[in-house]
Amino acid sequence: MSGRRKFVTGNWKMHGLGGSLSEIASIAASAAALDDVDVALCLPATLIARAINAAPSLMIGAQDCHQERNGPHTGCISAAMLAEIGAMLTIVGHSERRQDQQESDADIKAKAEAARDAGLSVILCCGESEVEHDAGQAVARVTAQIAASMPGGAAADWLTIAYEPIWAIGTGKVPGMDDVAEMHGAIRTKLRELIGKEADAIRILYGGSMNGGNAAQLLAIPDVDGGLVGGASLSAEKFVPIIEAAAKA
Ligand code: PEP
Repeated sequence: MSGRRKFVTGNWKMHGLGGSLSEIASIAASAAALDDVDVALCLPATLIARAINAAPSLMIGAQDCHQERNGPHTGCISAAMLAEIGAMLTIVGHSERRQDQQESDADIKAKAEAARDAGLSVILCCGESEVEHDAGQAVARVTAQIAASMPGGAAADWLTIAYEPIWAIGTGKVPGMDDVAEMHGAIRTKLRELIGKEADAIRILYGGSMNGGNAAQLLAIPDVDGGLVGGASLSAEKFVPIIEAAAKA
């Protein structure tokens, strides 16, 4: 036993209107019945306050935050604003934001530190492209991302890492189990190098086409401490089997 409690987070991306609140409440009811897993949903900012109201037992988070507390940044939301409406965590560094908003490792480090300062927990994402994967550069790429984006004061009570191979996100493709084991082991080793003993307490999630059919196998891999789940987190029907697998893993 690693001593690390499994953690499964849904990432709803740009999905969900008020009509989804009953789905969120249904996920919350199933999660509340499970003892051995932490469950969160990272929602569009517009849904966060209403979801907390509809599902107070569930950890509700955001998918990004700005690195400044406030300022002239039209359309952006700060970590303090998210904390004020009751968000408990935020994702930073998702590959879709790295691509769409050209976020750098330095931006991601700054966002993680801003979230920490606002009292939010952080899920910091990393992952290689298909080209890097095919060239055998995945471990080098991911460990370099981690070194460059690691926030100061990294500690397991607020920081989680999510390894998400970009080519596996939303594609139905999943790496071989040996590749996942190798990568999660390499991330743990890099964390030890960067932050010492605290590395052993930090949870490392796998993300990329996780579903009810593959979750148990993925979650049984040493150093896979949970999942970051996109498409399959949008309904209780698809998400609950994943959180149940995590509770048994
Ligand atoms: C994600 O976007 O974080 C993700 C893992 O998506 P999916 O589960 O749909 O591959």
